[in-house]
Amino acid sequence: MNNSKNILNYMFGKGAIDNLYLILNDKKSENEYVIYYIDEYFGNSELVKQLPIKKEDELFFVQTKDEPKTQFINKFRDLLVERNKNNPKAIVSIGGGATLDTGKAVANLLTNDGDAEDYQGWDLVKNPGIYKIGIPTISGTGAEGSRTCVMTNVKSGLKLGMNSDFTIYNQLILDPDLTKSVPREQYFYTGMDTYLHCIESLNGEFRNAIGDAYSRQAIELCREVFLSDDMMSDANREKLMIASYFGGCAIANSFVGVIHPFSAGLSVVLDTHHCIGNCITMNAMEEFYPKEFKEFNEMAKKQGIEISKGIAANLDDETYLKLYNSTVIHEKPLSNALGDSFKEQLTLEKVTEIFKRM
Ligand code: NAD
Ligand code: ZN
Repeated sequence: MNNSKNILNYMFGKGAIDNLYLILNDKKSENEYVIYYIDEYFGNSELVKQLPIKKEDELFFVQTKDEPKTQFINKFRDLLVERNKNNPKAIVSIGGGATLDTGKAVANLLTNDGDAEDYQGWDLVKNPGIYKIGIPTISGTGAEGSRTCVMTNVKSGLKLGMNSDFTIYNQLILDPDLTKSVPREQYFYTGMDTYLHCIESLNGEFRNAIGDAYSRQAIELCREVFLSDDMMSDANREKLMIASYFGGCAIANSFVGVIHPFSAGLSVVLDTHHCIGNCITMNAMEEFYPKEFKEFNEMAKKQGIEISKGIAANLDDETYLKLYNSTVIHEKPLSNALGDSFKEQLTLEKVTEIFKRM
């Protein structure tokens, strides 16, 4: 039976990030220096100028053009070891899912031998990671609340996180002011990650009352946000931040379904980013999720968001085979959605047809 862990501390509200220095001051530790991972978008921003960064701290900007790779996580660890900064008081991550996952992965790697690749899987991390603070600047993936950090091992093609209680943030600062600057399209795609995750869970076979409760509430908040006139109003950015956090808690207690495996196929074979990949996939999911397909399109229309079409319409046989393999490899979610004999339904021909429809 699961002995579930939640986030112990979180601070929520406009301007909450101003309290970062208090949290860091209160934290007792052997060393005083802090490591920051910050989304490259904030490179020269006021936000960075206002952070309580000290001379001895290390600041890294995280690129988001590519999603996290195990080799970059190892590299970040190596840099800290070289600079003798491998036992910080805290790791602070400020950004979207990619940056939040980077901070989590490095925190685990600094206290565990070996490389990031060695911990892709379930409960492989042996020692608690460095104390870490997560500060999301875009809402939807739930990376701030979840017990994983998604990374791709380019050599093996494996896209899998370090699923572990040690991957959960020790402290969150949820400040809805930080999501004001997100471009509208990106806000929609990433916000939809929590909606899609939760509808997949609720339509699945392996369920429990806790996962269901988090999912239902997250979906309700998404409806309020995306069916309203302005999805990015102050009140809606607050709601979406909470929907994302609940979605992250739901991930720890449930499984996804058909959408995420197809989206993972797009990501591994065509390098499509996670959240837009989910939205593109959803456009081909009417037969699996008819009610939600309709609602998803209503939300996109209401917000004036066009989801691009035709990404996998005209590919060669070899690429369709790759897409097929990187989709059906996700046995747990697919059997959650379609039963253990899902491969009888998802033949190469069928999977190809679905990709062509996207
Ligand atoms: P992201 O981190 O990929 O960033 C998306 C874009 O938004 C980037 O261009 C970034 O610079 C920009 N951005 C972020 N905040 C901004 C702001 N305030 N203003 C302007 N621009 C801003 O975004 P994401 O969609 O949150 O994350 C996707 C990643 O999350 C993927 O790597 C995926 O694998 C991972 N993920 C993790 C989990 C988990 O549980 N750990 C779950 C789902 C997805
Ligand atoms: Zn997702």
